[in-house]
Amino acid sequence: MISLEKLVTYAKATGFIFQGSELYGGLANTWDYGPLGSLLKNNIKKAWLKKFHDENRYNVLLDSSILMNSQVWVASGHVGGFSDPLTECKSCNTRHRADKLIEDHSKNTVNPSAWSHEQLHSYMMSEKVACPNCGKVNWTEIKSFNLMFKTTQGVTESAGNTVYLRPETAQGIFINFKNIQRTTRRKVPFGVCQVGKSFRNEITPGNFIFRTREFEQMELEFFCKPGTEIEWFNYWRSYAIEFLQTLGLKRENLELHDHEQEELSHYSNATTDVLYRFPWGFDELWGIASRTDFDLNAHQTQSKENLEYLDPDTNEKYLPYVIEPSLGVERLLMAILIESYEEEVLSDGQIREVLHIHPALAPYQVAILPLIKKKHDQYALDLLDTVSKFTQAIYDETQNIGKRYRRQDQIGTPFCVTIDDETLENHTVTIRERDSMAQTRIPLSELKAFILDKTTL
Ligand code: ATP
Repeated sequence: MISLEKLVTYAKATGFIFQGSELYGGLANTWDYGPLGSLLKNNIKKAWLKKFHDENRYNVLLDSSILMNSQVWVASGHVGGFSDPLTECKSCNTRHRADKLIEDHSKNTVNPSAWSHEQLHSYMMSEKVACPNCGKVNWTEIKSFNLMFKTTQGVTESAGNTVYLRPETAQGIFINFKNIQRTTRRKVPFGVCQVGKSFRNEITPGNFIFRTREFEQMELEFFCKPGTEIEWFNYWRSYAIEFLQTLGLKRENLELHDHEQEELSHYSNATTDVLYRFPWGFDELWGIASRTDFDLNAHQTQSKENLEYLDPDTNEKYLPYVIEPSLGVERLLMAILIESYEEEVLSDGQIREVLHIHPALAPYQVAILPLIKKKHDQYALDLLDTVSKFTQAIYDETQNIGKRYRRQDQIGTPFCVTIDDETLENHTVTIRERDSMAQTRIPLSELKAFILDKTTL
């Protein structure tokens, strides 16, 4: 498996991911997605939307604001409670998340997510949880640290115009539940999908793009009748795992962590974390939770609006229960790069750097390569225009064809289309496939069908 250091170097060298604000010495834990990274991000979001929205009969789409009325965060519990347990090392004055330190120290054999501050502190002292920075066991009492980014709306700064950057996209869905149900005339069960940025002032961001303060989420809030939630929870849990496997993540690199009764959040009656084998070990990729009617109930109480659903068939009125599968775009992107990257040793001993990424996710599906620049470039550029109308294509005319193939292997382009003398004579092209390196010649008239067939999810 690719190491974390190598992944960072590879991502930067190829143009997937650059350090944020690099020109000015950087801004810690921010990352900019380069030409390849932004294409890959888009393809990941498209794949999720296709699976969770387009191909799923139950779900509709929403794009809600990042800035919302602060009452939303009072209702959801984020203003009062959205906090991490923060501790400071008295020896070197670095700050850490107590629960994460304990998880790492115990190699995930204990789960401190529901522990009190006193329990966390006494475990850290008795089990001698050392500071990752200086190695000492000298911890302060634990304090809560609110993770929401605060700013002010408008020109004057006063308590009345404080707004928060949303720490999750979910609440935008809950506060629009009635609007969506009314306008779509959907019957429960139905779901609402949303993709968008979220912000959390994380105490310990890190591991490259795994934990950052600005990130993107792909969330589904699925509304169902109370009593049916476990059935739907299982449905979405299987649906999510199947989706990850379709994208090429191997089952052995995924682990399901079903929360035991005592680990569950107070509002949840079933939760599974889908973990991926990252370079430092298994860690959370996707959280799937059955959240009962906690969120709708909280907004109903706070807003004093009736958010109940009237079942038109039975005339029953109830607050729907919710299943929430919540996935980070960047975490999935990172898992896909880790899964796909290979330094392949060829039969002649040479090393080929290749990204075996699913063709639908690859930044470019096709590279158009004129064999001899002077002779074949015009034909190739015309073909680039044609192919770009139905897929993402790139043109490359520099250096010999072998080197150009290798460059495309390195960034995961599944098909290279070469234009040569024969193309000019009889309108056939050579297609060279990334993984097998096999070459076949096909008539140009078949190119579109060939590519679309092999690059669609
Ligand atoms: P963690 O325990 O890793 O902090 P969480 O349980 O707080 O995660 P959720 O609130 O369930 O995470 O968020 C849902 C998903 O959003 C996560 O599974 C992850 O994919 C993504 N995510 C959450 N926080 C971050 C972050 N700081 N950076 C990148 N992705 C994140």
